Amino acid sequence: MPVDKQLKKTSDNALETPAVSDADLVIAIRENQFVVHYQPKIDTRTLEFVSVEALVRWNHPILGEVIPDKFIPLAEQSDHIHGITDIVLRTALEQSAQWRELGLDLRTSINISGASLEDPDLPEQIYNISRSFDVPADKVVLEITETWQSQDIAATTLILNGLVEKGFGLALDDVGTGHSNFAKLDGMPYSEMKLDKTHIHSATVDEETRQFISMCVELGHEMGMYVVAEGIERQDQWEMMSAMGCDEGQGYFIARPMPGDQIQGWLKRWNTYLGLAENHQRESGPKVNLDEMTGTFHRLNSIFPTKLDI
Ligand code: C2E
Ligand code: CA
Ligand code: CA
Repeated sequence: MPVDKQLKKTSDNALETPAVSDADLVIAIRENQFVVHYQPKIDTRTLEFVSVEALVRWNHPILGEVIPDKFIPLAEQSDHIHGITDIVLRTALEQSAQWRELGLDLRTSINISGASLEDPDLPEQIYNISRSFDVPADKVVLEITETWQSQDIAATTLILNGLVEKGFGLALDDVGTGHSNFAKLDGMPYSEMKLDKTHIHSATVDEETRQFISMCVELGHEMGMYVVAEGIERQDQWEMMSAMGCDEGQGYFIARPMPGDQIQGWLKRWNTYLGLAENHQRESGPKVNLDEMTGTFHRLNSIFPTKLDI
């Protein structure tokens, strides 16, 4: 049932969010009602801004912004997911090309649903899109969730290898939410491992989680992957993940996902913050009070313009 009809039905209960329907998704894809936000990833050693993850939102004409957890699972039950993946790839790579013109040499990570890995044409399709925007393949990373169970492992491996042959990076996403059967990773061409945010959140209070993360970091590095910690919300989590050997960090502590035209302004504030942190370190010795500096960073956020036209 389309959402406007459901809204009438549920209008007595303001808390009830009507589920989106298949028919709404068809319209959303036809009219491209989607927007893509970008969340920065930071190198834990150099504090350099190295990469963004593209995260889709549905700008629904009645419901407003709908988060992906409310519509991606529905889209994955039908072919609609392919239409959404295509829109996100084109939007994110066009944005990536605009950043490159401005001198921002970032990797762009895009979430690919497991269902899309059943299409043997996928490597060629993504390659054609990246070529059309002149974005080098090695600046594009495709994130594939660990929880996805392939029906035909041999066929999927062929597609994954096809993506790697084209030069794309592959990230194993949400590590720790599925079976984490690392034996089956042997021979899989992943270049990046992303630890799920649930583990980052419990790591500061739970020894078992810390052991799991240590094992992942060690295994990831042994397999030639770089390891990313997702969902870092606090300084102690940031410090722990850096100390445990994660190569990159992502989370609200650094930045929330934002529209593409705000990234340049964010980077300006981030670089100003790093400059201030360096001065602070020179004056106060090697132990930087990052809490104080984070306060400064958040104040800078309100001083600098958040929107730059690019
Ligand atoms: P994910 O791939 O695990 O993406 C990370 C999610 O964690 C994002 O939620 C992000 O906004 C959120 N996040 C980032 N930092 C923090 C933090 O510090 N704390 C907390 N609590 N959350 C944080 P989002 O954008 O709502 O996306 C949810 C999921 O939807 C994604 O999880 C991904 O599985 C899926 N998704 C998003 N965009 C796409 C897309 O274009 N295609 C497909 N197939 N799936 C997508
Ligand atoms: Ca992801
Ligand atoms: Ca995750």
